[in-house]
Amino acid sequence: MNSLQSWQDQPPLDLAVVGAGVAGLAAAHRARQFGWRVGVVEAARAVGGKVRSERRDGYLVEHGPSCFDRSSKTIWQLLGELGLESEVITARQPAYRYIYRDRAARRLPEHVAGLLAGDYMSMAGKLRMLAEPLVLGDARPDDTVWSFACRRLGQEAAHYLVAPFVAALLAGDSRQLGARDTFPTLWQWERESGSMGLGAALALGAEALPRDDTALGRYTLRDGLGSLPKALAAALPELSVQLSAPVEHLQRRSDGVWQLVLHHAMADKYPPILAKRVILTTPAKTTAELLKTLAPLAAATLADVTSARVAVVHLGGPDPHRVAPQGMGVAMVPGEGLRTLGILLPSSLFAGRAPAGHWLHTGMVGGAGDPEAVDLPDETLISLVRRAQEQAFGLSGARELPVEFSAVMRWRDAIAQPRVGHSEAMQQVTATVARELPGLALAGSYMCSLGAEPAARAGLAAAESLFAARAEA
Ligand SMILES: Cc1cc2nc3c(=O)[nH]c(=O)nc-3n(C[C@H](O)[C@H](O)[C@H](O)COP(=O)(O)OP(=O)(O)OC[C@H]3O[C@@H](n4cnc5c(N)ncnc54)[C@H](O)[C@@H]3O)c2cc1C
Repeated sequence: MNSLQSWQDQPPLDLAVVGAGVAGLAAAHRARQFGWRVGVVEAARAVGGKVRSERRDGYLVEHGPSCFDRSSKTIWQLLGELGLESEVITARQPAYRYIYRDRAARRLPEHVAGLLAGDYMSMAGKLRMLAEPLVLGDARPDDTVWSFACRRLGQEAAHYLVAPFVAALLAGDSRQLGARDTFPTLWQWERESGSMGLGAALALGAEALPRDDTALGRYTLRDGLGSLPKALAAALPELSVQLSAPVEHLQRRSDGVWQLVLHHAMADKYPPILAKRVILTTPAKTTAELLKTLAPLAAATLADVTSARVAVVHLGGPDPHRVAPQGMGVAMVPGEGLRTLGILLPSSLFAGRAPAGHWLHTGMVGGAGDPEAVDLPDETLISLVRRAQEQAFGLSGARELPVEFSAVMRWRDAIAQPRVGHSEAMQQVTATVARELPGLALAGSYMCSLGAEPAARAGLAAAESLFAARAEA
């Protein structure tokens, strides 16, 4: 018997969750703690959504996010509740970060005190960046990340530090993304205190400010971050998750019960899923489709949310000359001639990512600035990342890193891009849904802030809001 059959002859589920990414599974986990009968309906053949780890040929590859930090409170909380703390592994130190400029990877300082050292920016650019607390605060709702960074840190830092990291981490274009929408805390610090540095010191207390990477901390799980969604799903009662079941249509009966109609290939075999409440954790465009007849204005707003496309390229091999670079990764400064957003160095950062004496690197290609690149053939994507890796770290001739392993993963809806006005638009969507569609909540990570931690937080919050609404009713 599958989960759909088991739900069929029963009264409506207390909660149906659409999407078994981190947000959906966190929502289901919390709902179970309320004692609700929960069903999770997932289109793909596996749980986890973007959080997907895979062991292949002795390598452990992460097709989506690969780590979390000390401030990822919800992830830590879930790991505790699931008894997974013993699976946590800590990043090796020092976790150097680099930017690629002028044909080489330039190491960034590991702590604030070292900002003036190194060849990553000119001395004038570094001094301008350090003058941040002295620059008059002028936070505006229509700031882009680029205009915000230019004002606070200067144009050189905006170009050589902020733009490459926005491209490598969010696959985004700093000139398109809204500052308030992408980095709300930094924007708020300027708004309230006139400066990011001062705002951070006031908000966190000078003592709490991370002085280096050890203070920030990077962590992952022994078998990859994908162990978290797998454990969340495994902790649910048997027959709580239905895979390979895309929801195509959503409607509300006159008695308030929700009906989830599956894609027609499944709908021929199974009647609609019935549930008293629904949480949608699908990406913005799919959510827009599901809501288009129920809340047309909210659906139109969601349909406008753009998403970056990304190809993730893993390369690995032996390191006979022990030349594999050490650190966390390199972000490519846009316009420096490499068609790669950035390269992570997982085998340097965490133990157990490659066989002993071997290396594993993960390159990102595409993003908001180069969406067509994602459709290039595998061999072309591999050679783009290979070239970027060789060029950045000087890995040729006697310093060659032989490649024996490669894997390519394409995300055509990888990371939502919060443009100027995104957060206000999402607040309106949330308010409309709460007002017009009782018993329904949205929890995609595109709603608030991007990443696995906000996704998990949004999932828990959605379940809690429906539980509170039930208590009030
Ligand atoms: C390459 C890459 C690197 C990233 N790096 C980082 C990082 O370093 N740090 C970080 O914090 N975040 C990172 N992220 C972002 C992070 O992975 C996501 O923000 C987060 O995992 C989103 O979780 P979610 O549950 O909201 O959505 P998703 O993971 O997208 O889950 C949504 C689920 O809904 C399912 N679905 C879609 N349509 C339907 C339907 N019709 N019916 C049923 N199910 C459906 C999907 O199959 C999917 O499983 C990265 C993402 C990518 C792609």
